[in-house]
Amino acid sequence: MKAIVLHKNGGPQAMKYETIRTPEPGPGEVLIRVYAAGVNHVDIDIRNGISGMAGNFPHILGVDAAGEVAKVGDGVRQWKKGDRVAPHFILSCGVCQNCISGKENICLSFGILGATQWGTYAEYVKVGAHHLVALPDKLDYDQAVSAYVPFATAWEALIEVGKLQAGENVLINAASSGVGSAGIQIAKLAGARVLTTSSSAQKLARAKKLGADVGINYRTQKIGAQARKMTGGLGVDIALEMVGGETLKQTIDALAPGGRIVTVGAHGGEQVDFDMIEFFRKHISMHGCGRSTRAMASHVLQLTAEKKLKPVIHKRFALKDAPEAHKLMESRKFFGRMVLNP
Ligand SMILES: [Zn+2]
Repeated sequence: MKAIVLHKNGGPQAMKYETIRTPEPGPGEVLIRVYAAGVNHVDIDIRNGISGMAGNFPHILGVDAAGEVAKVGDGVRQWKKGDRVAPHFILSCGVCQNCISGKENICLSFGILGATQWGTYAEYVKVGAHHLVALPDKLDYDQAVSAYVPFATAWEALIEVGKLQAGENVLINAASSGVGSAGIQIAKLAGARVLTTSSSAQKLARAKKLGADVGINYRTQKIGAQARKMTGGLGVDIALEMVGGETLKQTIDALAPGGRIVTVGAHGGEQVDFDMIEFFRKHISMHGCGRSTRAMASHVLQLTAEKKLKPVIHKRFALKDAPEAHKLMESRKFFGRMVLNP
């Protein structure tokens, strides 16, 4: 099969387009023919060797995919050749205390597709039979892969963990990111009023087309002051945060008393100093999250098939052009998902 193979950590050019042996599914495993793979920021961290996840080489990146079952291993009865599927990126063990109580996303001995085992930047990927989600009939592969991780992540953060309610004011940071653009749509679907942040008027205009009510340009405006101004002086009830650093501090400032933060990332600053006095006096709560379950993924894929959620695809690339996709992601000059088509 053709694959993008990483032999060592490095820049985009460390990824090589090669022909390698197609994996064989063992007992209990399924081989998927990948028709669409997403480019995620974590891929760049793993490529650079800064993800904190141990890497064995050669390695194949890629945490998400949409495709078709090509072959099943011995003992697999749930799936058959030709089934349209997506692999779940959290490779849960299925037997630990958390898995058996429905919390597979915080499995006690999980792996991550494209990190702890070969991922989806390839024509084929092999996963365990219980790591698959069925795709709705009306959803094409590019739409499915573009929707999967961002919508499932934003759904877990806002709906499951953040308990977002209709009528609440919600702040969604990084409108142009995958999770940001997904969060805007999920919050609107839930009946919330959406404030969002981005770095340019152009990106904020696109965010408004996705349903955002208020745009805040974080380069020229203070998030907290602007959020209070747009909420009658109170601040927002809940914030979806994925930037970290100064943005997290400004987000805490933007919260109303009793406000809550759901946080799924910190690429803009992993170590943050903030004022604990303000934190407890305002009765703020902060929840770490960012890993969905297969049930949440299945739910958002259905909503996408029904066109209630619309993934934003910035650009499609041939698999061999993965280095170009990484360069574009690192430039930050994009809005929405990048899709590789092996
Ligand atoms: Zn487990």
